[in-house]
Amino acid sequence: TSKIRIGIAGYGNLGRGVQAAIAKNPDMELVGVYTRRDPQDLQLASPAPRFAIADLQQHTGQIDVLILCGGSKSDLPEQGPKYAALYNTVDSFDTHARIPEYFETVDAPAKAAGKTALISAGWDPGMFSINRVYGEALLPDGETYTFWGRGLSQGHSDAVRRVPGVAAGVQYTIPSQEAIDRVRAGERPALGTREKHQRECFVVLEDGADAEAVREAIVTMEHYFDQYDTTVEFIDEQTLAAEHSAMPHGGFVIRSGNTSDAQKQVIEYSLALGSNPEFTSSVLVAYARAVHRMNQAGITGAQTVYDVAPGLLSPKSAAQLRAELL
Ligand code: NAP
Repeated sequence: TSKIRIGIAGYGNLGRGVQAAIAKNPDMELVGVYTRRDPQDLQLASPAPRFAIADLQQHTGQIDVLILCGGSKSDLPEQGPKYAALYNTVDSFDTHARIPEYFETVDAPAKAAGKTALISAGWDPGMFSINRVYGEALLPDGETYTFWGRGLSQGHSDAVRRVPGVAAGVQYTIPSQEAIDRVRAGERPALGTREKHQRECFVVLEDGADAEAVREAIVTMEHYFDQYDTTVEFIDEQTLAAEHSAMPHGGFVIRSGNTSDAQKQVIEYSLALGSNPEFTSSVLVAYARAVHRMNQAGITGAQTVYDVAPGLLSPKSAAQLRAELL
């Protein structure tokens, strides 16, 4: 059988991660990296065909699934609908509050073109979303808790970097250990957004930027920071490079519930990620396999992780899965 031909749209952390993940999946091959920059300027982690993003208009016969590796804040809202009209796509759109509207903007062009567009894959949204559904469905009398970190959030760092006056920056999410302990003990506490996590930003200012204006723009940013206690620390470029270059992350989805008055049950899914983007990319690549199969089966339009049967993610056949993993 022939390999699944993957294209990468956008070569940042996720783009590099997808390239690394394809190398771990023998049933896939990377046929092109597409960028808005001059393709010759890209520092590829390993050799691959590289193209200007405009070439995607002509390459529809050469790619089975295009993995969209742009940022959620401004790249994907434009690229998601545009490329869903030309290719089967997978993306990691992670602005949770905007997922319903993003789904609609991608669904229409994908359906019209007979393409399959899997939106919002990764770990959150993605694997955590799946575990929230399992928790709710299996323990209807219960509470679901999601804790993130301590880790660097790409979505939030991306948002910080797009604030005018910001030259560079990172954002860490820090969970409250006390809150986690109470949840694991089955207390089912009512926890406000502010009680569960804090956000910590480290920012390098552009020359002449107004620090107070930058701080204000960050801490009041809708959906990203306005509901949290956020600190903003200004540092220089050298400190950023020396102390904030790794991208670890992780967290927990915990469902605590009762199956009867006498019986408490706790379900926990945990991730400890050395590299958030490499893990996210690895998830995107597994979903690219599912998307390819779903499109071949005639399932088109926008899809989410809730619409994908787990067996479709595996390179193994359904019969193999029944024999080996069930
Ligand atoms: P990134 O490194 O900032 O890359 C985003 C885009 O910026 C790239 O596609 C690339 O497009 C461009 N770019 C990258 N490096 C550049 C450079 N040096 N100069 C100019 N342009 C550059 O973002 P990322 O870390 O890959 O993350 C992308 C998105 O993934 C985030 O916004 C987040 O929403 C999402 N995410 C989701 C999850 C999840 O669990 N669902 C987890 C992690 C991240 P061109 O090549 O076209 O220029």
